Amino acid sequence: MDAVLASYAAQESLSRGRRYKEPPSVYRGEYQRDRDRIIHSTAFRRLMYKTQVFVNHEGDLYRTRLTHSLEVAQIGRTVAVALQLNEALTEAICLAHDLGHTPFGHAGQDTLNACMRDYGGFEHNLQSLRVVDVLEAKYADFPGLNLMFETREGILKHCSKRHARELGDVGERFLLRKQPGLEAQLANIADAIAYNNHDVDDGYRAGLLSLDQLRQQPLFGDRLAKVQKRYPDLDDRRLIYEVIRRMIGSVVSDLIEETRRRLLAAEPQSIDDVRDAGAPLVSMSDAMYEQHTALKKFLYESLYSHEKKLAMTEEVQGIVKDLFTAYISDARQMPDEFAEAAENAAGAERARVVADFIAGMTDRYAISAHEALG
Ligand code: MG
Repeated sequence: MDAVLASYAAQESLSRGRRYKEPPSVYRGEYQRDRDRIIHSTAFRRLMYKTQVFVNHEGDLYRTRLTHSLEVAQIGRTVAVALQLNEALTEAICLAHDLGHTPFGHAGQDTLNACMRDYGGFEHNLQSLRVVDVLEAKYADFPGLNLMFETREGILKHCSKRHARELGDVGERFLLRKQPGLEAQLANIADAIAYNNHDVDDGYRAGLLSLDQLRQQPLFGDRLAKVQKRYPDLDDRRLIYEVIRRMIGSVVSDLIEETRRRLLAAEPQSIDDVRDAGAPLVSMSDAMYEQHTALKKFLYESLYSHEKKLAMTEEVQGIVKDLFTAYISDARQMPDEFAEAAENAAGAERARVVADFIAGMTDRYAISAHEALG
């Protein structure tokens, strides 16, 4: 299954493997198997009803965590193939990267983190790993999905030293200051490329961003000028799409070229050389990174902090807080499996059961659970 890969790609034959040994599959490679397990997981299906930027019930046309994850995987796979990296592993990491997200996007995560302050906190990235390692209950022989080391390494993008120590193998690199494999580095950047672009689209569609504002952004403005020159009479809707697809195209081409340059300079012979390289090798050029970051900053200031977004944020923060308070004081308000787990635990362990339950909720489930509170 490793036939067309570069030597610095993740190779199955050199993998650190699964935590619980399993016989190989007859038809599929091990990273393909991981991708399939992720797609079949409960947490993956729930991404359909979880907020990316816009709360799910605000409209059917906006990205959800699910369509966001698919767009990330799409970008990741293109770059993986161009660089002869492991496409199946890249796809698996991309599809799993947001599995730990709470309902209501960052507002939900920040609130749950605040609720968990005295109990070790809540971090969606760590939760994504917890979903695939512990929370998915599908197999008779082991907890979680028993994914390959490299998939888990990619899912855990960042991690505090304290958590890294508790996590063992997959936390090690944060203590030793090492890089993850190239597929993990790629998934991380594909995430940023995807949201920067689809948030422009969604923000414009929602009427929270204007063409005049967007024109000021070099990444958008330069491509807008080209499209307008070629198609002077194009309506705004198509205009935006033509600009966005050019933005994605430019960033992706730049990423492939810059990464090739860095690989040529660093000459890694294996995934372990990549891990020891001292800095990430998958990267945009400095010039493109600057434009990308400027757009990101603009979205932060104009879209994520828009007063209409903030009003919704306040509402959903209240929901998460109320749910947490209610379940901590009366675990029986949760479904049996969580209620029993919470009643058999105390302190931080009990709070973690509540956090796992809330984090797993979709937006609409959280809203109806909130309505159902006594
Ligand atoms: Mg993401």
